[in-house]
Amino acid sequence: MSPLDLVALLRARIREIPDFPEAGVSFKDITPLLADHTAFAAVVDAIVSHHGRGTIDKVAGIEARGFILGAAVAYHFGAGFVPVRKDGKLPSSTYSQAYALEYGEATIEVHQDAFVPGERVLLVDDVLATGGTVAAAASLIRRAGAVVSGCSVLMELTFLGGRKRLPDLDVHSLLTY
Ligand code: AMP
Repeated sequence: MSPLDLVALLRARIREIPDFPEAGVSFKDITPLLADHTAFAAVVDAIVSHHGRGTIDKVAGIEARGFILGAAVAYHFGAGFVPVRKDGKLPSSTYSQAYALEYGEATIEVHQDAFVPGERVLLVDDVLATGGTVAAAASLIRRAGAVVSGCSVLMELTFLGGRKRLPDLDVHSLLTY
């Protein structure tokens, strides 16, 4: 599939829901994309071929849609998968990181023993918006002793400037809005 065909296919499979979960937010719903094998597989293939097999030891997926994309990417890479979860969900000892949302605050966590020191980690999520979530996840991975090799997101909301908050990260997005 050509890059232009890929972008057209993905755009056609992302549904925009106005004012969800609150007024003023245009929610990017990826469930139609996930339900279409060709589109889902194209996303996973594009992420793996951007980075190249053999360059990543583990994929870290951010709850919840980052789990779906990240687990498929990890399998295709031949890499392990680590969940970055909302607070209170992981059962063993964790590192926690609080960060600002557009309204309020959130906390995410990773298991302290999730990585072997020096492992190369690819962060995966569906949407890069303000960049706060990816910045917090990258900081957790580094605290756990690993190296953040890059970050792949399905789409980037460029008007929110998330990439500028991540100057030390190689951010790869398949689509921009
Ligand atoms: P941020 O920390 O602002 O970059 O927000 C990114 C996180 O919020 C990701 O985990 C996304 O799943 C979610 N998110 C933010 N904005 C949207 C949106 N417009 N549609 C769907 N998910 C979003």
